[in-house]
Amino acid sequence: MAGSRQRSQDGKRVAQLERLIELSRSLNSTLSLRPLLHQIVVAAQELTETEACSIMLLDRKSGQLHFEEATNLPGLRSIVVPMEGSVAGWVVKTGQHVVVADARQDPRFYRKADEQSTFVTRSILAVPLRTRGNVIGVLEAINKQDDGAPFTEEDVELLTVLGDQAAVAVQNALLFQQSDLIAEIVHEMRTPLTSIIAYAELIQRSEATPTQRTQFADIIQREAGRINEITKNFLDLARLESGRASLARDPVCLSTVAHMAVNVVRPQADARQIGVVVDVPATLPSVIGDAQRLHQALLNLLSNAIKYCHPGDSVKVTAQCEEHCLAVSVADTGPGIPVEALPHLFERFYRVPGSEGRVTGTGLGLSITRQIVEGHGGEMRVASAEGQGTTFTFTLPVEKAP
Ligand code: ADP
Repeated sequence: MAGSRQRSQDGKRVAQLERLIELSRSLNSTLSLRPLLHQIVVAAQELTETEACSIMLLDRKSGQLHFEEATNLPGLRSIVVPMEGSVAGWVVKTGQHVVVADARQDPRFYRKADEQSTFVTRSILAVPLRTRGNVIGVLEAINKQDDGAPFTEEDVELLTVLGDQAAVAVQNALLFQQSDLIAEIVHEMRTPLTSIIAYAELIQRSEATPTQRTQFADIIQREAGRINEITKNFLDLARLESGRASLARDPVCLSTVAHMAVNVVRPQADARQIGVVVDVPATLPSVIGDAQRLHQALLNLLSNAIKYCHPGDSVKVTAQCEEHCLAVSVADTGPGIPVEALPHLFERFYRVPGSEGRVTGTGLGLSITRQIVEGHGGEMRVASAEGQGTTFTFTLPVEKAP
């Protein structure tokens, strides 16, 4: 009897180790950070047979630990986990794994995490993510599925090996992301820089007339402004994409945010004879998030609507409750977007062919907006018909207030 139980346990162990190898191999073939983090937590949950798993990454510059991704822990993404008074902080500082058998009795447990979601943490197994001797983050498995069962030595071993593999994969994805971003920005700055160099040469030629000189100076100024805009937006996007921009988690009234954003674009809309109305009830439940970033997201959508609309068109901001979320929309009666362009709208530097000559822009606004919305746990949608107008909508989860 005891022999057959032993054999079945050995069989389970071999199957787990095989699965670990399979999962590790698949992690190493993913270079995209977000999908990779998701894959890691799903794999960790499967291997440790737990109710939830999460991953936190350390920002070397600020020294802060950011909650990045989790299974079954909604609403925690992007929060900053304190170094003092958290299990993850302890793991980073000591570089060692830890098993917390009863979270409520452990002073290292960060209670606020449970308060900000609907989850109840009982026990935790946390391992460091380490590459070349440096801890770059922490992987946590929470509550064995077997109610009240303790974490075993096998769990510790499995999560440690997965953590080691995950750390290398994360490091590679971060490096790839950086080189990818740098290649793109260099490419995008080349066009305005080439114009600046060419017109700076022309302006110095003796045969240039005063009118031409003024015209060339205008072009130089415009192109330099464009480079300035690209660098500003790009740094913002890089920070959001790498998870280094932490989002505040305060109660936010969307009606106030919508009115403030509309006030900013009102002069521009009036000058272009475009009507803007806001229909956002003040009675909507508040969302938990970063008011400044949400203002920025809404402003990007409003500025686009006004930029691409023609005089006489109109723009309307609305918001309504949907199941578990609020949906905020910016609808315009402008030129619309061709159906084949829709899947590319949120890609970095993408501009609908033909926009270039008509309206100035960097092609980064919608990528930034999407990063902000997704950082809040929401999603972006777009619906458009050529000649009829465009509606951008973003959703934001409505959570219980902390
Ligand atoms: P930018 O406006 O700087 O070019 P965005 O990322 O904000 O960059 O937008 C990407 C592209 O989507 C724009 O170049 C434009 O072609 C298209 N677009 C965005 N909003 C609208 C809109 N409301 N109506 C029509 N086209 C739009």
